[in-house]
Amino acid sequence: MATWLVTGGAGFIGGNFVLDAVARGVRVVNLDALTYAGNLDTLSSLEGNPDHLFVHGDIGDRALVVRLLAEYRPDAVLNFAAESHVDRSIDHPAAFIRTNVVGTLGLLEAVRDYWRGLEGPAKDAFRFLHVSTDEVYGTLGETGRFTETTPYAPNSPYSASKAASDHLVRAFHHTYGLPVLTTNCSNNYGPYHFPEKLIPLVIAKALAGEPLPVYGDGKQVRDWLFVADHCEAIRTVLAKGRVGETYNVGGNSEKQNIEVVEAICALLDERRPREDGRPRSSQIIHVADRPGHDRRYAIDASKLKDELGWEPKHTFEQGIACTVDWYLEHQDWVKRALDGSYRLERFGVA
Ligand code: NAD
Repeated sequence: MATWLVTGGAGFIGGNFVLDAVARGVRVVNLDALTYAGNLDTLSSLEGNPDHLFVHGDIGDRALVVRLLAEYRPDAVLNFAAESHVDRSIDHPAAFIRTNVVGTLGLLEAVRDYWRGLEGPAKDAFRFLHVSTDEVYGTLGETGRFTETTPYAPNSPYSASKAASDHLVRAFHHTYGLPVLTTNCSNNYGPYHFPEKLIPLVIAKALAGEPLPVYGDGKQVRDWLFVADHCEAIRTVLAKGRVGETYNVGGNSEKQNIEVVEAICALLDERRPREDGRPRSSQIIHVADRPGHDRRYAIDASKLKDELGWEPKHTFEQGIACTVDWYLEHQDWVKRALDGSYRLERFGVA
């Protein structure tokens, strides 16, 4: 049985990844600091499962990481832990540097020393996989797509901190030989997404009859990927990726933000019409644009397809329908995430 140390496994993508990995027979040691974005409700189906060991702690706590590595002897370390919300990075950039840069450095140092102590096939097979974002490449004009050789040009404190972490991961390969892999992925959506991000926020507000805020003209373009497809891409890169390489992960689903909001409104109107019969698109309002808002991201994921055979299985239309249905069926998860009771009950903090 493989053992993976997963960081940030109580967050959106990490949580989806951990649920899937344990279901596939992997033993997961899940290290998460449980910031506001860490939600153990997501992992409630794993309570009592001996193949999931949750550890409340910080990736930058080197003594803790050293102890976990020595005790559980993982075959791989997958780093999802991060401060991840662009708006928060504009208001409070320091936390992003602490976790995404200094925290990743501490993790890398501990993992490097663990890997050095491994021998034979265990050492050859070990991998450190770093989960990153396409936002490190900056913004695009009307045309073109990011490839793995696009120069880094991060525009927000969030993307700058992720870019720094990517460079550290690269440096640990070139300087110390650590067998690393990096994935740079486009915008994810799907179950267990904290309702501060566009898609879950719009679903929650649309259902509550509240205004649906759209930044600026809403014509910013993002490439959307269903989270289950991202998890599969990460497993594929971990199993077959070439050491030291980076792989772009994308959904071939470029959409303007306004198109995403309208698609959600249409699905909700179909599944749960408003009592007054009015379309939910009437709730859309345009608000002042985010400072430095990148206009367009688009990913060329052909390296991942050509080398490792991965392609997304969900179109945007399929993925967004699954997502809307999931939120309709899991209103309790959403309510607890919105009112803070997921923190209050489990940790005594609001
Ligand atoms: P998230 O904010 O939902 O989850 C992050 C998790 O990391 C939380 O559980 C949080 O408690 C934990 N965490 C934060 N600081 C920590 C620390 N110092 N030590 C240990 N745990 C800590 O984020 P997400 O959307 O699931 O993103 C996961 C990763 O994927 C991030 O690295 C992010 O940059 C990357 N990514 C996200 C997207 C996206 O669309 N969400 C796209 C591409 C890449």
